[in-house]
Amino acid sequence: MAKKTVEDLDLKGKKVLVRVDFNVPIKDDVITNDNRIVAAIPTIDYITAEGGKAILFSHLGRVKTEEDKAGKSLKPVAERLSELLGKPVTFVPETRGKELEEAIANMKDGDVLVVENTRFEDIDGKKESKNDPELGKYWASLGDVFVNDAFGTAHRAHASNVGIASNLPTAVGYLMEKEIKFIGGVVENPQRPFVAILGGAKVSDKIGVIENLIDKADKILIGGGMTYTFQAAQGRKVGMSICEKDKLDLARELLEKAGDKLILPVDTVCAPDFDNDAPTTILTGDIPDDLEGLDIGPETIKLFTEELQGAKTVIWNGPMGVFELPTFAKGTIGVCEAIANLKDATTIIGGGDSAAAAIQLGFADEFTHISTGGGASLEYLEGKVLPGVESISDK
Ligand code: AMP
Repeated sequence: MAKKTVEDLDLKGKKVLVRVDFNVPIKDDVITNDNRIVAAIPTIDYITAEGGKAILFSHLGRVKTEEDKAGKSLKPVAERLSELLGKPVTFVPETRGKELEEAIANMKDGDVLVVENTRFEDIDGKKESKNDPELGKYWASLGDVFVNDAFGTAHRAHASNVGIASNLPTAVGYLMEKEIKFIGGVVENPQRPFVAILGGAKVSDKIGVIENLIDKADKILIGGGMTYTFQAAQGRKVGMSICEKDKLDLARELLEKAGDKLILPVDTVCAPDFDNDAPTTILTGDIPDDLEGLDIGPETIKLFTEELQGAKTVIWNGPMGVFELPTFAKGTIGVCEAIANLKDATTIIGGGDSAAAAIQLGFADEFTHISTGGGASLEYLEGKVLPGVESISDK
């Protein structure tokens, strides 16, 4: 069901509470990557252009004790946002109380205000993270409407998303709308053929995704470290490769259930250790005890490229090898190239390390959509209901 969007709300003169994802990396008070702030701007711009007062809430890192607060203030974020918007942004170093209430009362139409890190409320009884009903109600009392644009936390029911949403008229912002359209679209109604490419370190992290996609995808291509658990389950020797011995039965069940749909690598780039300068060997069969598999081989890149031909929907989650080391990045690059060359396909990166890999390897612009949520996109792909999405009104 389509959710109400920010454009469905009457915003003129309204106090618009917005849950954004400003959880950016900060080192010594300097923001090292402001992508998430940049990404929040279209929704903020729309609200202020419509004459709304944008009151922004976000978490930043984890805060359990008073000491954890150091370096977790949203003040530098508010400053960066002000530079990006080209206008003043009020920062309130409180998550509740008189200073915050007065600052909001003094806002004019089109003004922007950033509230301090919502997780500062976690110090005393995890009020934010446990969705304390009083906190959600209090925050909601500060505004007239609520817009959720933070997909990264949509898989959690927190006071700053679900709590506020239960007390006000709601809508999603542009970022959330896009995530629902693409990731939700894949899960609910993919254009076929639909090919999923799954990699990354472990099977155990992606069991739910594989199980859900076995029913939905036309093909599932497996790469990365999870390959070896599947191959060990088939009785192959995997040497020193990463292998979850306690997941062999499960891997066997998945292989049986998926049948021809699940396609494993046919060759592997192996090395004696995790080192960019280590000598490499390409093997098609068993991996000896003194070697480990660190990337898919050239024949697998060819195979996966062929399997992708004609696909109308592609979702990729998890690198094909240890892409951080150039020697073992070729498989991930090969798959990125194959996806980039597809015509008429909706191509989606399901968050986390794959997004980092695509950006690092220079393919970020080649995809239709790169999800901004790691855990949230995985849970969405598992077919789970995301509380942050669920709590927004349907159209
Ligand atoms: P994930 O967070 O599950 O998507 O896993 C990403 C990580 O998996 C990356 O840091 C990769 O280096 C790692 N990875 C991919 N392939 C392998 C492999 N064959 N052996 C060990 N680690 C791998």
